[in-house]
Amino acid sequence: MIIYGIGSKQLKEAPVEKISCVNCEHQSSVVVVYQRYFDLFWIPTFPIGKKIVLTCPNCDHVVKEKNFPEDFKRSSAQLKSSVPTPKYMFSGLAIILAFISYVALGSYIDDQMESDYFNNPQVDDVYAIYDEYETSGYKYYFMKITQIEGDSISFTVNEYGYSAITSELLPEDGFINYEFSYSKDFVREMYSLDEIVAIYREYDESSGFNRINITDSLFMEDMNYDLDSAENVNLIE
Ligand SMILES: [Zn+2]
Repeated sequence: MIIYGIGSKQLKEAPVEKISCVNCEHQSSVVVVYQRYFDLFWIPTFPIGKKIVLTCPNCDHVVKEKNFPEDFKRSSAQLKSSVPTPKYMFSGLAIILAFISYVALGSYIDDQMESDYFNNPQVDDVYAIYDEYETSGYKYYFMKITQIEGDSISFTVNEYGYSAITSELLPEDGFINYEFSYSKDFVREMYSLDEIVAIYREYDESSGFNRINITDSLFMEDMNYDLDSAENVNLIE
């Protein structure tokens, strides 16, 4: 829930001797300048203009600017514009901008790191893969680099699909004891199609990425992974 509203803050007040109250005929008035502002969660976020009124110190009657005596309009307008808008009226905006730049910087660094990992692949890098053609809800799985040789990269895959991107395997999940290779061009295509959604390196033991699940070769035939593009399916010794 977002709580927002319009607030107003008194910036200046000054007595005006010559203007008497139209309500009680008191001999003087007080001129008051307000800053109006938009607030988010009670924090002034940005100013939306100033307001000037005449008030009566005796009966509290308020006269709006448009009803000011003609000979007071000019000096009151000058007074209103001469009162500066306090900087803290932009507090909320400053917080929002700081937050946006923080998030943007974070994601920029993540992107840089990811593309650096991708351009300089290493054995044991783990790729989180998104398979949009997977018909079950489990569209995410992992590939782990087992070998890099010339123009081809060998991978192993984990056993299970996941319904969301994650940076660790379930306790019963692990990478299988088979590897297959793709050409670097094919891997680059996966990356450009956003099928590689994250790259993990220097992960710790709790990620489960070092776990190997021994499986038989039949599993490979069952898999939905894109083995048509893969070559050299081998048992990992
Ligand atoms: Zn009055």
